[in-house]
Amino acid sequence: MKKRRVAVLGATGTVGQRFISLLAGHPWFELTALTASDRSAGRRFGDAVHWLLPSDIPDGVGDMRVGPTDGAVDAEICFSALPTEAAGEHEAALAKTGHHVFTNASPHRMDDDVPLLLAEVNFEHVRALEKQRRSRGWSGSIVANGNCTAIHLNLALAPLHRDFGIERAVVTTMQALSGASYPGVASLDALDNVIPYIDDEEEKVIAETNKFLGGWDGTSFVPAGIAMSVHCNRVTVRDGHTETVSLTLRGGPKVDDVKASLRAFSGRPQQLGLPSAPKRPVVVRDEPDRPQPVLDRDVEKGMATTVGRVREDPVLGTKFVLLGHNTIRGAAGASVLNAELLLAEGCV
Ligand code: NAP
Repeated sequence: MKKRRVAVLGATGTVGQRFISLLAGHPWFELTALTASDRSAGRRFGDAVHWLLPSDIPDGVGDMRVGPTDGAVDAEICFSALPTEAAGEHEAALAKTGHHVFTNASPHRMDDDVPLLLAEVNFEHVRALEKQRRSRGWSGSIVANGNCTAIHLNLALAPLHRDFGIERAVVTTMQALSGASYPGVASLDALDNVIPYIDDEEEKVIAETNKFLGGWDGTSFVPAGIAMSVHCNRVTVRDGHTETVSLTLRGGPKVDDVKASLRAFSGRPQQLGLPSAPKRPVVVRDEPDRPQPVLDRDVEKGMATTVGRVREDPVLGTKFVLLGHNTIRGAAGASVLNAELLLAEGCV
């Protein structure tokens, strides 16, 4: 296959750097452009970036010139790690000029013609791209990722909703500092502390879950209609969001049935053997003290959600703990997998 030309928008940021590391040596994609703000545009990438990952900047990337984020990006596919305001301004303009944009930013996630795609979960939502191209007159497209918390939650919820049906859920999160970008939360606010508020996060997790797990009826997205209560907290972990989940499943399945449903879960990425697909999108552990961020966030190269402590809940029926890497499967890795899926299915 001829490699497709790809750009990273917001390349100097936390998620942008993840994109660059995941795209290094990718069998289908060739990195041809990097963009950032006016602060970085025109500079050598290696000089503009404050590189945060333990691995070196991939060969050749440090010498690439950072471009402005405008309609002239030299690539077919744009992986966007732009902040909200810049994404709102630039992503639609790029789709209009023929670019296929895979975004981590929130402005288009809930649009009625933008697939909020989680590759194993809701491939049928891609049919909304026909409506998007027709109604907006774009030759390109926008496909969105969910927010990092919603992505990992929905990898675990999807098999349970498919096998049993979810009536209601209560979710409490312990979210990593890297989820707040760099330099994120001030150290004097973060250390020795838990911050019980993340702007707009609880509303996003509820709305995105109901879009992810809902349907596409040919003209509109149909929300899943799950009643949810979500509490989001920022904790002093570097990478990896932990979430405790209590939920009511139809038919009141036993713990072993819930574990079996989670363990059996796979989707189109696994069937197609996509390059970034985890072998197991959901990993279930039986030890009483797992998952933990330092032990489990890198399982399946950061592309899986780990679930543990599956047990009966005396109030709602079932409960468990889940954990996932927020900048890999919770952001850049999810976009790369979405792009692989759409290419493999001939949608872009
Ligand atoms: P970040 O570290 O603040 O990086 C932002 C990037 O965008 C930088 O490259 C920055 O370039 C560039 N930028 C800033 N203003 C710009 C403008 N006006 N025009 C063009 N480029 C601009 O943010 P991040 O954590 O990587 O997050 C990126 C996006 O992903 C956000 O929408 C965020 O909500 C979403 N997201 C983040 C996570 C996470 O775990 N961090 C997870 C899921 C989704 P300069 O270096 O030149 O300023």
